[in-house]
Amino acid sequence: MVEGRGEIAVVIVAAGTGSRIGGVDGLPKQYREIGGRSILAHTLAVFLAHPAIGRVVTVIHPDHGDLHATAVAPLGASAKLVPAVIGGATRQVSVRLGLEALAGTPPALVLIHDAARPFVSAAILDRTIAMLGEAEAALVALPVVDTLKRAGDAGEVVGTVARDGLWAAQTPQGFRYEAIAAAHARAAASGRDDFTDDAAVAEWAGMTVRLVEGERGNVKITTAQDLAEAERRMSTDIYTRLPDVRTGWGYDVHSFEPGDHVTLCGVEIAHTHRLNGHSDADVALHALTDAILGALGDGDIGAHFPPTDMQWRGCASSVFVREALERLAARGGMLAHVDISLVAEAPKIGPHREAMRARVASICDIPVGRVGIKATTNEKLGFVGRREGIAAMAAATIRLPAE
Ligand code: MG
Repeated sequence: MVEGRGEIAVVIVAAGTGSRIGGVDGLPKQYREIGGRSILAHTLAVFLAHPAIGRVVTVIHPDHGDLHATAVAPLGASAKLVPAVIGGATRQVSVRLGLEALAGTPPALVLIHDAARPFVSAAILDRTIAMLGEAEAALVALPVVDTLKRAGDAGEVVGTVARDGLWAAQTPQGFRYEAIAAAHARAAASGRDDFTDDAAVAEWAGMTVRLVEGERGNVKITTAQDLAEAERRMSTDIYTRLPDVRTGWGYDVHSFEPGDHVTLCGVEIAHTHRLNGHSDADVALHALTDAILGALGDGDIGAHFPPTDMQWRGCASSVFVREALERLAARGGMLAHVDISLVAEAPKIGPHREAMRARVASICDIPVGRVGIKATTNEKLGFVGRREGIAAMAAATIRLPAE
């Protein structure tokens, strides 16, 4: 019954201002960063990557336009991501406004999800969507395993609540779109604004809500402890996903010829000569390209970019580094670090070192703190000492998935 893009839409609820997490900046939790990007971006990425989902709309607080724009920027452009919608005073109102934003081209199904649950898995989405093949409403939940106590005002236990048949609701909660949109509209018209989840709106409207198995890991980040645990899980992820750490190295030399500048690490430096050779003759980026290819065990720059191939004539050597990085990405890996040594009597590298680090960090899309650039003369010895050319060495550390 579900066919074509746009038939399953998602409403991400991110309009809250509160934070029990605390801290100096008072940032709402959905905009807190874990593992280098916002919780909201992590959450959106799961839905955007799912092949069955056609559209995702985020409901945000009216004061959070800038926060939202910054938070989602790392996701890049996605045809699935529709412009954010401004929410209302309660979660219930925000969801209704999100649903109304989809009404122009109504989807068959809609999943409603809290932005603060970034660990939602593709498997949960699969199970929820599958349940909506037979049910009009599906609730991701887990059976309650802890013994439940009712407490009095002074923190004293006043009773034990039987947990038989009790389930703890998670999100996403999935619905036939027309049914949940109508239920929300009716709840609003009836002055009901106290529902804390959408399954409760569906129940109130008389819909049958079926349970879908949730996951313990699909936590809602609420407290500082949750945030610390989420940070640990996200950073642990890199080490568990990419445990195969390798270092490659590269070496290159180019000779001088008459000219007025050299290009080193992508930075043009005025000089009495230029470097002769392949492309822009950026000896440092050639060594770096070889270092990345070496770590991959995937040939060398000459094999991938033959100097006899005229298309590389005069081209920026960042092209070669990026191609090597694409080969790394195709293997599911990431670049962890690079270190480059230049050996030259002239020009002086020191004044350009920070510009070079910034340029290499930008080409490689890694933090500048993961780029080392060093330079030395050759103490007037050999071809470098005679100012006949420049040599460069590079090391690159990569992380790959387990084989
Ligand atoms: Mg070269």
